[in-house]
Amino acid sequence: MEALKTLIQDMFHKDCSACTDQEVYEALLAYTKKMLAAKGYQDGKKKIYYISAEFLIGKLLSNNLINLGIYDDVTEFLRENGKSLAEIESVEPEPSLGNGGLGRLAACFLDSIATLGLPGEGIGLNYHLGLFRQVFEDNLQHEMPNPWITPDSWLTATDVTYMVPFRGFSLKSTMYTIDVAGYENKAIRLNLFDIDLADESMVHDGIAFNKKDILHNLTLFLYPDDSDEDGRKLRIYQQYFMVSNAAQRILDEAAARGSNFHDLADYAVVQINDTHPSMIIPEFIRLLGERGIAFEEAAEIVSHVCAYTNHTILAEALEKWPIQYLEDIVPQLVPIIRRLDEKVKAKYPQENLTIIDSNQLVHMAHMDIHYGFSINGVAALHTEILKNSELHQFYEIYPEKFNNKTNGITFRRWLMYCNRPLAKYITSLIGDGWKKDAAQLKQLFDFEEDQEVLSQLLAIKADAKKNCKEFIFENTGIEIDENSVFDIQIKRLHEYKRQQLNALYVIYKYLEIKEGRKPERTITFIFGAKAAPAYYIAKDIIHLLLTLETLIQNDPEVSPYMKLVMVENYNVSAAEKLIPACNISEQISLASKEASGTGNMKFMLNGAVTLGTMDGANVEISDLVGKENIYIFGESSDEVIRHYEKMDYHSRAIYESDADIKKYVDFIVSEPMLKYGREEHLRNVYNELLNKDWFMTLLDLKDYIKVKDQAFEDYEDRTAWAKKMLVNIAQAGFFSSDRTIEQYNKDIWHLN
Ligand SMILES: *Cc1c(COP(=O)(O)O)cnc(C)c1O
Repeated sequence: MEALKTLIQDMFHKDCSACTDQEVYEALLAYTKKMLAAKGYQDGKKKIYYISAEFLIGKLLSNNLINLGIYDDVTEFLRENGKSLAEIESVEPEPSLGNGGLGRLAACFLDSIATLGLPGEGIGLNYHLGLFRQVFEDNLQHEMPNPWITPDSWLTATDVTYMVPFRGFSLKSTMYTIDVAGYENKAIRLNLFDIDLADESMVHDGIAFNKKDILHNLTLFLYPDDSDEDGRKLRIYQQYFMVSNAAQRILDEAAARGSNFHDLADYAVVQINDTHPSMIIPEFIRLLGERGIAFEEAAEIVSHVCAYTNHTILAEALEKWPIQYLEDIVPQLVPIIRRLDEKVKAKYPQENLTIIDSNQLVHMAHMDIHYGFSINGVAALHTEILKNSELHQFYEIYPEKFNNKTNGITFRRWLMYCNRPLAKYITSLIGDGWKKDAAQLKQLFDFEEDQEVLSQLLAIKADAKKNCKEFIFENTGIEIDENSVFDIQIKRLHEYKRQQLNALYVIYKYLEIKEGRKPERTITFIFGAKAAPAYYIAKDIIHLLLTLETLIQNDPEVSPYMKLVMVENYNVSAAEKLIPACNISEQISLASKEASGTGNMKFMLNGAVTLGTMDGANVEISDLVGKENIYIFGESSDEVIRHYEKMDYHSRAIYESDADIKKYVDFIVSEPMLKYGREEHLRNVYNELLNKDWFMTLLDLKDYIKVKDQAFEDYEDRTAWAKKMLVNIAQAGFFSSDRTIEQYNKDIWHLN
């Protein structure tokens, strides 16, 4: 640590012990950046470019220290100087470059690409104000800008710039880089493109701004509100800016490594993460044209370079842009897209295979499937649903393109960093081979009957809950009972994820307690979720949860037995505090709707037991741990898909035929709720449940209550519960993103 000591002297002309936390943070930032650069970058002839609108990378200091192998040394050095890394970390802003699972997946993938020593990089945009910061006021969500770029940050400006042409003007870009350290390996880069004139000062009243001022707003926000035409067009400006920069960079790099572009596929593979980067396909063809390659060959080249990952079967989430918007913004792409579409139509006349449909909408996913060489789903069930129903027409013509890559998470962040005591304990039992070969966690099965190990697991969990209690108090002002059972649902707010189902259980339990049936042990229901600013019903559900929080808090008959806390501004840092403390992991999406989930994997790895539907990766978790170590409820994906086909689900019929369900739903707009909540918002939730309930909440409510009550009962047999924890941890190895990335490489990328 001599070098760090000297650096601090050089920067601040005093000892570490005399520095403020801010100063120490700046010194560690400089020190770590230097160490990363000194390690060098992974190189190779062929490179993977992972292009994504989101990279939800989380704070980087500790993670970099871990991956550089100096975490313990730095912690010790700081302690000797009267500092704590945890406090210094609180100075670090969390980069706000992602929204949820898709962006977090991209971040985990970069960590694994670097760790496995694969040549690659991430490409995205440098959003200045990120996704919004969530603030609760009067039990309602408000959105504020989330600035994260400080004078000293992980971003390094480069001299890479390009010109990106739009109708009527061009924009110059600058590329910024964030180094991503591999675990005990070289680094790779996350390259984020920006405009030079981004003007944060145009933002007013929360996150409102002039959506037409592209010269100054293009990189302000991730997912600007797209409820009007200007918002939707801004998204197209962003997407094209991202992919034009990406394509220009990829061609330049390939040329520098010796490509003549005809052989581009030997130098580059592009993973298109969801449809936001899909315009890279026509953009490549345009740029190859400028470099003398005719359309037909260019289309062929691109078809060997681009691979597409599908993340959803929700129809409303599959992007379709009016061709007129593209004409207005990127007219140079329109003739190319039309030719791509004509080729498809000449071969396949079916309407459901077209790129441009009869409403003049461009189906971005369809373009990816026709002109990419691989399409993958993100969990076994999801890929089967794509093949058998959602994208069946494509599977029939391109069966060889379809493949599954079950998502994963990096164990560096989601165990070694966020739960150091558990990671250390695991190492003390089975050695540290699991850090690079997660399958070795299975060795924990040797200790399944070991009382000492089981009680240690419980003790580590109890400590994590104590720490989490402090976090929750700071965040919400509510004091929870660390001996209560922690039941946690943290994820974006979406009707398909069914936070409203969990809320109905809370109401059920509230009424049980009111009627004198008290739970064996206090229950703490923990939520965290942001709702998209224009997704009104999602914001109403947040209001329902916050109103329940207030109601319970103010009811002395109930609050000793249960609490509900809704963490404000749920993000990666919050997840890192909540997940180690979780007992019951809520993964309760309507079966068939959650493509994979990755939160479910983080919880399992940290010794929580899943309560969930047979959806997404829950299916694979269930197969791995066995029915006795997971709580499954609700109708299957097949049954749900049949309900949609037959249109035979009517929530009102369930409500009217079941007095209990009626009681819970009615409670949403009851006197006690209206005392703390706003009628308009609560009534929206109530009406939605009765009249639409598109995600079939009431269908599974009774079974959910039954199975969840069983989980709480089983929790009381502490030894049996600890065994469930152990089995979950031991089987979590499959969900390492190292495994996922090895599969991407073996089946799709073919690097090295
Ligand atoms: C892992 C993660 C998610 C994804 O959670 P799901 O439950 O899979 O939807 C979302 N947000 C953050 C901050 C995460 O860390």
